[in-house]
Amino acid sequence: MTFDYAPAPESQAIVNIDSNYGLFIGGKFVEPKSGEYFKTINPATEEVLSAVAEAGQADVDAAVKAARKAYDKTWSKMSGKDRAKYIFRIARIIQERSRELAVLETLDNGKPIRESRDVDIPLVAAHFFYHAGWADKLEFAGYGPDPKSLGVAAQVIPWNFPLLMLAWKIAPALACGNTVVLKPAETTSLTALAFADICQQADLPPGVVNIITGAGDTGRMLVEHPDVNKVAFTGSTEVGKAIQRAVAGTNKKLTLELGGKAANILFDDAPIDQAIEGIVNGIYFNQGHVCCAGSRLLLQESIADEALHSLKRRLQTLRLGDPMDKNTDIGAINSRAQLSKIEELAKSGEDEGAQRWSPTCPIPDKGFWFPPTVFTNVTQAHRIAREEIFGPVLSVLTFRTPEEAVEKANNTPFGLSAGIWTEKGSRILWMADKMRAGVVWANTFNRFDPTSPFGGFKESGFGREGGIAGLGAYLDTEDNS
Ligand code: NAD
Ligand code: MN
Repeated sequence: MTFDYAPAPESQAIVNIDSNYGLFIGGKFVEPKSGEYFKTINPATEEVLSAVAEAGQADVDAAVKAARKAYDKTWSKMSGKDRAKYIFRIARIIQERSRELAVLETLDNGKPIRESRDVDIPLVAAHFFYHAGWADKLEFAGYGPDPKSLGVAAQVIPWNFPLLMLAWKIAPALACGNTVVLKPAETTSLTALAFADICQQADLPPGVVNIITGAGDTGRMLVEHPDVNKVAFTGSTEVGKAIQRAVAGTNKKLTLELGGKAANILFDDAPIDQAIEGIVNGIYFNQGHVCCAGSRLLLQESIADEALHSLKRRLQTLRLGDPMDKNTDIGAINSRAQLSKIEELAKSGEDEGAQRWSPTCPIPDKGFWFPPTVFTNVTQAHRIAREEIFGPVLSVLTFRTPEEAVEKANNTPFGLSAGIWTEKGSRILWMADKMRAGVVWANTFNRFDPTSPFGGFKESGFGREGGIAGLGAYLDTEDNS
């Protein structure tokens, strides 16, 4: 039996979206020198939300200059204790404005309000609280008695967790005494601009945080700027490689958080219903726009049929639709371009002989949507087993022994995360030790915490964000490569 849900839309009244936004440079919103603007839309309705400035070279120069000035004159001279006060203040304002930020994130990104409200924004605040706590204790972090900041950090982020990725970048940078110029992704600039407003509200000294909007070219100009000391990038492996080439031979310190193709491994002794919940969360959370998504399900052969049956039954109950509805499980795909990419890869799965399945699920007329999808009969050679789809598509493979599971899980150019489902503690430790992945979850998936480092192996990038390890990315340590 299934229940019918009455609509439960969250009100939009709490947000006030301007018709256009300038760039946040030197503590003020300024018109772009480029004179260019571009539109940002709500991907669930295709409605235009606002026009956002497209920063050109002169704007990038102005932002880096403002960050340099703030670094030299104020932020690098300030005690850790005083920096902490500002970061704590930012964290508290984020909590106070959390409903507004959640609604804005959902409107601009398309993710369900339940996720922006219960996952993204609380984690954003947690990241600022955690790093505020470090600002006056850096000498105890294990980076020497008097660790030094780097200078100006250029930070470029993707659209899947817009404000959360901003927090992962800005909170440690400020705690360690750096100033920043951050560029959000072109489809999701609005919460970064709301954050600029929060910096003003917190009375953060001008120039400590600068937000410039624009597309890939703006990002490229920012990371290539000669007066930048640190580059932090989260996004695709392809762009990550281009940035690594651009930064090579300079003194810029670099961290790259790139794509993934994580294996979620289900052993025959795991409690199947609980595991299925975690597996569903692992790939359908945030429409699968998650770098560490469990996009490959490895099932032990003896329970494969039973697990698939439970999985399909569970997927029948997911609700796809209006992201602003509090009952929605699956929201909109972030852009038409991303939807085309998902469609193309799903088609390749069919063409290469895998079997495609989706629950019956009405798709809204307007906006960008993709139903939760499962592919069975997948082999390791299929593109859907190797390439990152970054959408709600799960590729199912099977294995017989733990050794075979390890082999298959690691058979990928990526190495961001992995999940292990088994009752046996010794097997968890054995498996975790063998996974070539930055994060290994056991009997859970997609859990995040600011105290825990996150990052990849191989084509998933290098460097860690979060925890003590993440502080090292923003301090002048011996390994500055
Ligand atoms: P993308 O690489 O196309 O874009 C990411 C950002 O880089 C955007 O802000 C974009 O404007 C900018 N950009 C594009 N070209 C650039 C260039 N030449 N120089 C500098 N900046 C440039 O990625 P996307 O499609 O927006 O995001 C999805 C990708 O991000 C996925 O592959 C996903 O796995 C990855 N991701 C990784 C993590 C992680 O922590 N490892 C987290 C989230 C997303
Ligand atoms: Mn948008």
